[in-house]
Amino acid sequence: MGSELDKSVENILGGSPVDFLLRFIDIDSFGYDGLKTVLREYEKWFFERGQFYSDSVDRHGTPWLKMFDETGKRVDEIQYPSEYWELLYEGYRRGIIDMVFRYDSVIPFYLMLYVVTFFDAGLGCPYTVSLSTALPISKYGDSALKDEIIPKMRICGPDVWQGATWMTEIKGGSDLGYAVETEAYEVGDGRWILNGDKYFSSNVGAQVAVVAARPKNSQRNVKGLALFVIKKFKGDGSLNYFVRRLKNKIGTRSVPTGEVEFRNTEAYLLGKKEWGIYEILDVLNSSRLSNIFGSVAVIQRALNLAYKFASQRFAFGRYVFEHPLMLKQFRKRVSELFKCFNMAWDAVKIYNEVFKEVPPFSDRFLLFRILSHISKYYTAEVAIQTSKWAMEVWGGLGILEEFPVERLFRESIILSIWEGTPHRQMLDGLETIAKKSSHKLLFDFLKEKFRGDEFKIKKLKEVEDYTERFLDLPDNKKEEDIEDLFVKIADLWSYL
Ligand SMILES: Cc1cc2nc3c(=O)[nH]c(=O)nc-3n(C[C@H](O)[C@H](O)[C@H](O)COP(=O)(O)OP(=O)(O)OC[C@H]3O[C@@H](n4cnc5c(N)ncnc54)[C@H](O)[C@@H]3O)c2cc1C
Repeated sequence: MGSELDKSVENILGGSPVDFLLRFIDIDSFGYDGLKTVLREYEKWFFERGQFYSDSVDRHGTPWLKMFDETGKRVDEIQYPSEYWELLYEGYRRGIIDMVFRYDSVIPFYLMLYVVTFFDAGLGCPYTVSLSTALPISKYGDSALKDEIIPKMRICGPDVWQGATWMTEIKGGSDLGYAVETEAYEVGDGRWILNGDKYFSSNVGAQVAVVAARPKNSQRNVKGLALFVIKKFKGDGSLNYFVRRLKNKIGTRSVPTGEVEFRNTEAYLLGKKEWGIYEILDVLNSSRLSNIFGSVAVIQRALNLAYKFASQRFAFGRYVFEHPLMLKQFRKRVSELFKCFNMAWDAVKIYNEVFKEVPPFSDRFLLFRILSHISKYYTAEVAIQTSKWAMEVWGGLGILEEFPVERLFRESIILSIWEGTPHRQMLDGLETIAKKSSHKLLFDFLKEKFRGDEFKIKKLKEVEDYTERFLDLPDNKKEEDIEDLFVKIADLWSYL
């Protein structure tokens, strides 16, 4: 089967996320003792048990919120089928958060996340927001906060403290400077009190969260925001935040998303008040990277499912996979997978160099930012399109709930919205290009990779010239046309 496709490509279509990673990455060279075995065993666990738990959680639908106990005390417990907790704790048990601190590197996290997302895109969220809570606390928190929280977040078992990142309120998630109304006032000893409501709060029920709020009397714009840490329980054991309700979602049911109320919630300021927006954007960096690397896993999974069906479905005298039109589409989509992987892996490696930086950030950090905006936009788009195409390959069966491709499609469409919509990625990217010339850092980075290959250097030069012409356009026109520039830059990764 598939004689016209390169044998190694067929392996990818065969469906092992770890084989795929190892094809490109020499994990041993990083010196993470035993990580390869951890990845292999985690994948095996998913094949043998995890994927069945995951399907059961998806079918079960929205978890249930128990608001009161039998004495009438407010408890706000999220109730899932028991498989959920096994599925969830397996990642912590295998050290998905702990490894970041043990190895002083985010690379093991993203490799594990790739495996998770291949099997369950929603399950990637609790791990991602836990990382995006642990990193800012370890960077911006004072030593008392770090000493209390980080060891609990590193626990490899059911007692682990999970994190969450809650910024979005009912007025909108894109323009936080306008929409965030949660107010904070200082009560002394580094303690603050928050009052307000968050509308989209994933991993609700988490033991600790980082939260955007507006210190009293601060500016009514993005500069008036600050980043706070809150814990689930107050010092006296009562709830520190309330869950108003859970969301019914089309996909990502392996993470509960709810609405949260802060009512005299005890909080701690992270870092400096004036760094607020930089810290909030920094929280988004690690989550956005999960979205990017996870999107690649979704693309691989979609190709795997498409191949599984097309290589056994017979029509017009041959297997569907063998028809020239279908084969050409597979080839094109496999090359998109490689392109997205190359881009995403570059983003992971650069982030690994800068993830401990605090403001003012270096040029390397700026390089990560522009690459992350372009690759978040691009990989999410390809992931959604590829899972839609995989449905088409399955024909009518692709629409039926009993087959996996239907679920993959439901899971994939969140990828373009989580961690900032495509418009936000493009406009934030444009700002760094127009105001900070971030494109020059990106082009220098690629020049180094293309060194010695005249054809690739020529292609790069064409995009550089296009960018200079683009930057001469009036501001409105730049906004209108930024998508074309993003696609042209992303295409450069097809030459790697
Ligand atoms: C399942 C799920 C889980 C989530 N979990 C969390 C969470 O844990 N924490 C959290 O903080 N948030 C969370 N979110 C919220 C998510 O981050 C927001 O949905 C997202 O940032 C977009 O915000 P919005 O939905 O309010 O859309 P809006 O900001 O209202 O945007 C509406 C539309 O306008 C577009 N738009 C906005 N500005 C411009 C512009 N200048 N030019 C062109 N178009 C523009 C947007 O791109 C979008 O298409 C979650 C969302 C979902 C669906």
